[in-house]
Parts: sequence; C-alpha cells; structure tokens
Amino acid sequence: MKIRSVDIYILDIPTVRPHQLSMHTITAQSIVVARITNEGGLEGWAEVATIGGASYGEGTPEAIKANIDQYITPHLLGRNPNDFSKIMFEVSKAVRGNHFAKAVVEEAMIDLAAKSKNIPAYELLGGKIHDSLPLAWTLASGDTGRDIEEAKELLQQKRHKIFKLKIGKGDPYKNVEHVLKIIAAVGDQARVTVDVNQAWDETIANYCIEALQDGGVSMVEQPLPTWNYEGMARLTERFKVPIMADESANSVHDVFQITKHRYGNCIALKPCKHGGLMETKKVAAIAEGSGFGLYGGTMIESSLGSAACAAVYATISEFEFGTEIFGPLLFKDRITVNDLQFENFEVIIPDGPGFGMEIDLDKVRHYARDYSYSLS
Ligand SMILES: [Mg+2]
Repeated sequence: MKIRSVDIYILDIPTVRPHQLSMHTITAQSIVVARITNEGGLEGWAEVATIGGASYGEGTPEAIKANIDQYITPHLLGRNPNDFSKIMFEVSKAVRGNHFAKAVVEEAMIDLAAKSKNIPAYELLGGKIHDSLPLAWTLASGDTGRDIEEAKELLQQKRHKIFKLKIGKGDPYKNVEHVLKIIAAVGDQARVTVDVNQAWDETIANYCIEALQDGGVSMVEQPLPTWNYEGMARLTERFKVPIMADESANSVHDVFQITKHRYGNCIALKPCKHGGLMETKKVAAIAEGSGFGLYGGTMIESSLGSAACAAVYATISEFEFGTEIFGPLLFKDRITVNDLQFENFEVIIPDGPGFGMEIDLDKVRHYARDYSYSLS
C-alpha cells in the first residue's frame, strides 16, 4: 500500500523535574512526531527530540518540521513504505544533513511497514538479540543531596544501577566534588559515569578527569567541544577511564574518523543524530569493528521515540555501557496508551507490531503546538 500522507507535529510535554545539562535545563521537552498513513488508512508513528531548541545541536523542532514538509515528504508520497531503505537512500542524495528529520520519517515508515506485516519492527532490522537491556538513569537535578536521595530510591526499586551525572554546568571543580560525594554514597552498589556535554577545555579536562578516574568514575562522556577531536585523542591516550564520543559522533563518516583516529574509545548511539535506525546499525558496526564500546543513548524521547530506540538497540550485539532510554520516566505524561516497561534494572524490548506502541490521539492533540494541524 502506498503512502497517502505525511503529517509532522511539534509537541511540548512537561518533565517530572528539571533536567540540567551544561547548555540548557529541560522543564518541558519538545518532540517532533511523524504520522505516515497509507492508502488503507494504516498509520506508522515515530518521534525525535532535540534538547533546548538549538542549544544542544543544530537541529530544532521547527526546522525539522519545515525541512520534512518542504523537502522530504515529496520523496515519500505515493511510495511503498516497505521500500524504506531505497526511499531513504534517495532522500540522502536530495537532502544534505538533517539527520533528525530523516530519522523520524524513516522510523515512521519502518513502524508502518512492520505493522502492515503484523510483526515487531526489530524483525525488519535483523531480528532481536536482547529481550531486555540494562538501563542507566541520569541524575541531573542540580543538587547533590537530591541526587543521592534519588539514586538510593532507584536502587531500592531495582530501577537503575548505572547513574550518569551531568556535570558540564557551573564550577568544574565543585562538580567533581559533587560526583565524588555521590560515588561515596552509592558507588558500592552502582556504576557512576559523567557527561560533560562539551563544557570543558583541555586543561580543565586534564585536571578533572584525573580526579574522577582516581575517585572511581567508570566513563567520561564528551568532555571537550565537538570540534576538539585531537584533544579527545590526547585524553583517550592519557587516561584509563573510557572517553565517550557523543555530540561529535553523528554520521557514519564522523564515526569512522573517530574510530580511526581514536578521538575517544567508546560511542553513544542515538538514532536521531545518525539519521535513522538503519544508519544506527551502520554506526554500531563501525564501532564494533574498531573495538569501541557502545552506549544506547537518548535525546530524551518519550515512550514512542524510546520504543524505536529499543527496537534497534535490541538488534545490536553488545552495549558495554548499557542504555539510557529512560525518557518515558522523565516525562510527566505520554502520547501512547501503553508504555515501555522497566524491571530488574533493565528496559524490556516491546514485542507488539511496529514499535509496539499504541498512539493516544487525544494526548497528541492536547500537546500539539498548532491546533490547525489536521489531527483527526
Ligand atoms: Mg551525552
């Protein structure tokens, strides 16, 4: 069945607590949702998210929607969603960059193709290796006491035993103290990693990573700005603690250069920054072939986008650092009837048709920015 329509919506959904990164504090997350409908009326749905408008990366929700509507949708209309790889290859020739825009339409086509065959999306991606995956949580309230309390509660609930601390904002030396206090409180029961979100220069990174390494931190994510590839290589060479590339690891070409020159020694995967689920698999293969460890990252998508991440992560052999698709737990509300399930420190891979999520259209309507959209 051919694609009849492509609808793109921007939704703003509040979070349960402020989520503080180096460049922005999230209190409501803006997600871009794609609905692709075939001639039989069957719908494929997908979601991507950005963080803080343009503060985290170049992509913004408004630009994603505009670029899809104007430049990508014409390549999809009248086509068979089962041909998603062929269609996305053609889109890659006609539209440069725009990974988030490409990801959300590719994923919606995959959801639709899988639903039309009544199979889970992971079957179209090579089949699943994992039924569940370890799930990290980000402690990012901005307050040490509150973070320790949160970590202890989550350990007790058997929800998470990997904690990532966002430490790019504020005084780096005080932030190192913050991390060491959290390790002292929960380090015997949990792995603690840090994400600097590009905030340090190399001098500060040298000092802080040494203290963090000595203090028992088990990974340091994107300590330097994306442009400082050589600095990342020097830190990787100098320290034993793994140095992860996240914001610098976008296209397959970026990731090839990172692995070749050791601009880090592990990679955070995120389907939206790579340009879709098939591109994510390519990135994972490059990393695997280079002996790089993998982390199943999140742009803080809600249940729908996290389920798409789960579908592709389930098909990738190993995640040395686990995954962090905890977005649904950070959102105050959801746009799906069902939700991802979390148990025994892991996220369960959904087994329903497509990404296994049933859309709650009333919720989509409620959170969509512009009610003039055709939301029937
Ligand atoms: Mg990161």
